[in-house]
Amino acid sequence: MPARRQVDSLSTELSASEPFEITGDIQRPDKPEEACGVFGVYAPDENVAKLAYFGLFALQHRGQESAGIATFEADEVHLHKDMGLVTQVFNESILLELPGCLAVGHTRYSTTGSSRVVNAQPAVVPARLGKLALAHNGNLVNTISLREELLRSHCNLLTTTDSELIAFAIAQEVNQGKDWLEGAISALHRCEGAFSLVIGTPVGLMGVRDPNGIRPLVIGVLPKTPLTPVPRYVLASETCALDIIGADYLRDVEPGELVWITNEGLASFHWTNRSERKLCIFELIYFARPDSVMLESESLYSYRRRLGEQLAVEAPVIADLILGVPDSGIPAAIGYAHASGIPYAEGLIKNRYVGRTFIQPTQSMRESGIRMKLNPLKDVLVGKRVVIVDDSIVRGTTSYKIVKALRDAGATEVHMRISSPPVTHPCFYGIDTDNQDQLVAATMSVAEIRDQIGVDTLAYLSWKGMLNATQEDPLSFCSACFTGDYPIPVPERVKRSKLILEKAVL
Ligand code: SF4
Repeated sequence: MPARRQVDSLSTELSASEPFEITGDIQRPDKPEEACGVFGVYAPDENVAKLAYFGLFALQHRGQESAGIATFEADEVHLHKDMGLVTQVFNESILLELPGCLAVGHTRYSTTGSSRVVNAQPAVVPARLGKLALAHNGNLVNTISLREELLRSHCNLLTTTDSELIAFAIAQEVNQGKDWLEGAISALHRCEGAFSLVIGTPVGLMGVRDPNGIRPLVIGVLPKTPLTPVPRYVLASETCALDIIGADYLRDVEPGELVWITNEGLASFHWTNRSERKLCIFELIYFARPDSVMLESESLYSYRRRLGEQLAVEAPVIADLILGVPDSGIPAAIGYAHASGIPYAEGLIKNRYVGRTFIQPTQSMRESGIRMKLNPLKDVLVGKRVVIVDDSIVRGTTSYKIVKALRDAGATEVHMRISSPPVTHPCFYGIDTDNQDQLVAATMSVAEIRDQIGVDTLAYLSWKGMLNATQEDPLSFCSACFTGDYPIPVPERVKRSKLILEKAVL
């Protein structure tokens, strides 16, 4: 079952990438939070630990609580994982302790299981044919039943994560006599929900996506050299992790596909015949990096810019300047400015180094709130009617502070435009979007939110506009947090934990 972040010393860290709310002793980002980034590489002649390190470094935005790398050197597995950012968890000497020809890496933000090092990944589990190391992005919806099933079989579960359950299910199948491939496929049929997996074994690397491909997973190839005529493959949550190590994007792992990478190359298996793509639309709008490619050959920057253009058509306003909320609102703000003909300006400067601290701010700093992270440019804003564009509103607390800061800096009108529809439902597939009663759009109308955050006007992009801007089949996306139409059935007892009963104002 998805669990809220535990409030302990580690979870008081600030998000490295987004604005935050300061309330009491915790500082919690006012945005949905991505669950994890996964990475795998099979390259016998390379320093795979270093490649994994840089891959995880590029995927840091997907999870900032813990990081881990497991490498395989014949039958031996070397593992290092800890709480913290990738740069805090690893250094040169630790990476030297991780030799091998294959690596699996993970950055984590907990959606199932608490924020403790034991729950950090990769999960390494012993089996009849050796150890396996598994990195998971997503969330199972049948965690409770799978856990009960494994406990009945006397599995010695060590953690509270759903990811470890998948690893134990594979080990259990292998222990019954199957090989790695057969064992993984049997175990995958016991899993329901969202899972993009990278799995290391002593003989090869696997990449797997659930039948709906909710979370992304891509395949890359390292360039050939005279000494390496055999292709060396990389798996990663996003293409930005390929770019950083000089790997070329080959293709996505397809929904319901398992790729098996060994010294014989890459083999593909469709492990289920019920695959139907339902890629998380929020990956496109906000989670993934704007320089990642997710729709054919297009960067997400281009998609987000198109969202802004569509928003300008749907919700025009007379104003002097268009601003974006750094960083995630900027591509849509540029698109809005382009389509409206109103100049784009930088009116909020982000302090990129305030991101993570264990030190609580003073009371007077708390009262100044948002300015710790975003500082308005008074000379740009004074006397201006501004449109501030953001990608989403979750609880609305940060939006209120941004609007107040813009008015205090001298803006005469503040209009807010959101490049996605109102978030009315929680996610059960690996994103922490709060319980439904904490989502401002689940309990308030747009007019009420407008008054709450103190803007002159507020408008969201339509659901149709958001999907049309993908220029792909709208049915190939999950957009359940905007509609409540969940593509993978969620068991009632799991649903009840996050949903309020039809109080939502849609
Ligand atoms: S419910 Fe929302 S955040 Fe979750 S997978 Fe679907 S679109 Fe993505």
